[in-house]
This record gives sequence, C-alpha cells and structure tokens, in this order.
Amino acid sequence: MRPSSVSPSAPLEEPVTETPLTLRPSQIELDEIEARAREFETSPPGAIVRWAAERFGDGLVLAASFQDCLLIDIAVREVPDIEVIFLDTQYHFAETLWYVEQVKDRYQLNLTVVEPLVDPDNRWQHDLDGCCGVRKVEPLNRALAGRSAWMSGLRRADGPSRADTPVVFWDEQRGLVKVNPVATWTDEDVEGYSRDHDLLVHPLTLKGYPSIGCWPCTSPVAPGEDPRSGRWKGSDKTECGINL
Ligand code: SF4
Repeated sequence: MRPSSVSPSAPLEEPVTETPLTLRPSQIELDEIEARAREFETSPPGAIVRWAAERFGDGLVLAASFQDCLLIDIAVREVPDIEVIFLDTQYHFAETLWYVEQVKDRYQLNLTVVEPLVDPDNRWQHDLDGCCGVRKVEPLNRALAGRSAWMSGLRRADGPSRADTPVVFWDEQRGLVKVNPVATWTDEDVEGYSRDHDLLVHPLTLKGYPSIGCWPCTSPVAPGEDPRSGRWKGSDKTECGINL
C-alpha cells in the first residue's frame, strides 16, 4: 500500500519530447545521456525517475540495497509497479531481511529477489573481491540482462569514493544506461525528505551503521567518520564492484 502522505513530485522543467520507448542499448545516443546528465544536476529526483520511466519503459529496473527506502519511495510515486531488484547475498543482517519485508509491504513492491548461483561458503574470509563477484556482481549482471537502464540510490555524499557520481551515464561494463536520481542530494536533503514522508528506517541505522551491506563486511562507524568506512574495514576495498 502506498503511504497516505503521497504528493506529486515537482514537474519537469521541460517536457520530455521523445516518444516513450523501450530502446535497445545500441540505439541510445551517448550525447543524449550527457545532455541529460548536465540537465539533471538541478532536477528533483522524481523528475529524473519520470524521465527514465518514460524513456526506457519496462526496460528500467531499480536495484535497491535496502539500507534505506529513499529512492523506492520517490520511484513508486512516479511508477507504482516499477520492478525493484534486491540482491540476496545470503550474508545479509537479519535486520535487513526484516526491513525488506516491511518496505515490500508498505509499498506493495514489485520485488524481484536475486540469489547467487553458489551456496554459502567461506570465501569472504580470504577473497573479498571474489565473494562480491559471485554474490553481487554476477547476480546483478544476470538480473540486468536484456534491460535498457537501471537505477540505484548512490549519492555523492555517501563518501569520498562516490564524490563524482554522475546522475546519468552510460554503464560501459554492462552496456546500458545507469541513472542515479539522488546523486546530488545531501544528508540534509535525505533527512528532510525522510522526516516529511515518514520513511521506514533500517534498525541498524539507529545503531551507528550509516552504510549497510553483508554482516561479515559491515561495521558501525563513529560520528564524523566517512559513512562508508565501516564497509570492508581493515582492507583497501571500498566498493563491491557493482558501482563502477
Ligand atoms: S560484502 Fe562481504 S560477504 Fe558480502 S558479497 Fe562482498 S565480500 Fe561477500
């Protein structure tokens, strides 16, 4: 069920003039993507989601980590039945799995859970990149096969490793468009939106976990620390490999 506080997002500054189509990646013009990336620097996230939905139709999916439901809340206002992908690495915190169910129920999500092709093992103890490869990268690539575009909730304010995150770009590795509707949002923007729209909060957020992934690789951080410094603590790894 969608929340009762739903209100329409601000309109696009300029109407989308392209014929709504699901394009194959080979047809998408790179200069259009670059132009949209510049334009969307100052656009509200709802308008960016709306453009992506009109441009890519059913070829658009939203990949959610479920450390929060910010982008989900924004996206379902524009596209109530948008497909949301959750990568079940088999190593999520119990709190995350509980949170997935709460968010799914609240928004009546069109949720697809994608699992790895391997059983739980000990690879995370000695091969972090390999573990992320089989539990995150491969499952996401499999879920995105045949799509035109994907969205996620990356923000520049997540930490230094994401400071240059574009709002829209060509995902060279996967051969499709990547859209980051909340890339420009500050922590204050998120806090304000979350408060105004009464968003569900992940239980671990209240326990010092500003960035939440798998339990073997996620630690709480102290106030003022890089929010992502609790991920893969003690190693030089900063990203799982799905956000390049
Ligand atoms: S975050 Fe850790 S446990 Fe999760 S897939 Fe990556 S290495 Fe494995």
